[in-house]
Amino acid sequence: MEFLRETLERQYGAETAGEIFAGLSCNRAVTLRANLLKSSAEEIAQALTSAGIEFKNAVWSREAFILKNARESAVWELPEYKEGKIYLQSLSSMLPPIVLNPQACEDILDMAAAPGGKTTQIAAISANKAHVTACERNKIRAEKLKFNLARQGANSVYVMVQDARRLDNFLSFDKILLDAPCSGSGTLNLSGGKLPEGFTEELVSKSAALQLSLLKKAAGLLKKGGELVYSTCSVLESENENNALKILDSGFEIVPISFEGMETIPCLPSKISGALCVKPAELYEGFFVCKMRKVQAGGKIKC
Ligand code: SAM
Repeated sequence: MEFLRETLERQYGAETAGEIFAGLSCNRAVTLRANLLKSSAEEIAQALTSAGIEFKNAVWSREAFILKNARESAVWELPEYKEGKIYLQSLSSMLPPIVLNPQACEDILDMAAAPGGKTTQIAAISANKAHVTACERNKIRAEKLKFNLARQGANSVYVMVQDARRLDNFLSFDKILLDAPCSGSGTLNLSGGKLPEGFTEELVSKSAALQLSLLKKAAGLLKKGGELVYSTCSVLESENENNALKILDSGFEIVPISFEGMETIPCLPSKISGALCVKPAELYEGFFVCKMRKVQAGGKIKC
């Protein structure tokens, strides 16, 4: 625990580090996303009301539902869940696809995709009209990804089961989401007063090194003028800003993140102006999202 406290205090100061610890120690509300490929916000609102589940919506998305006093198991029982009309997903995890802003006909790479929360959301936002390639190294997780894609009706997605660092260099994409494997420092559950066993200094430095190699690969696979969204569920700058800054130094510019309702999200200070670092809190997991553009304009994307 000392290592995490010292790292957070060095980065954010004692007061904010204390707030992060408090956020990591509270019980987080169950949240879900209405899958617009199969349903609507109205249908899901109706289903929750009929099941006696109280909810409110996130200010920044009508599809994001925050349940009051309900467990995930209550959602599993709903026919809408079994039919893939609902995806259980944390609020913070819904942000990277919104920031990516996928459009019809774009070639999009989701570089570390399983179990597919963000892949299915990208497919839904683009109404299955973007051409999505989802890459996942772990075979078992890739099966879960395929299951989720099928259940959610995300039929515009091509799955590649391989290490994304070895993707062929002849591939190129208009947009890339790298929702990178990370230490998970923003999603730790500290309510028991101790760190999970696997959370070590070594995990953080190994994660940072893997993230940087994935980021460099993403930078190479992106078309000129294309956009890269880098996200992690960590609040540590060694995994977040320090990696993103290395890419920004190599021919990328920051695209400041801005969307309606963003001011309602609790944020941590970031040394990258325009990046979004979500503070762990009652409704939110700790999360980092940064959008970068490969400098030099590309041509207009056609179908
Ligand atoms: N984006 C996913 C979602 O929203 O459901 C979560 C992704 S999780 C943070 C990171 C994923 O990256 C894991 O499934 C992990 O197996 C995968 N991964 C780790 N290293 C990888 C690599 N070198 N190439 C491709 N996938 C990798």
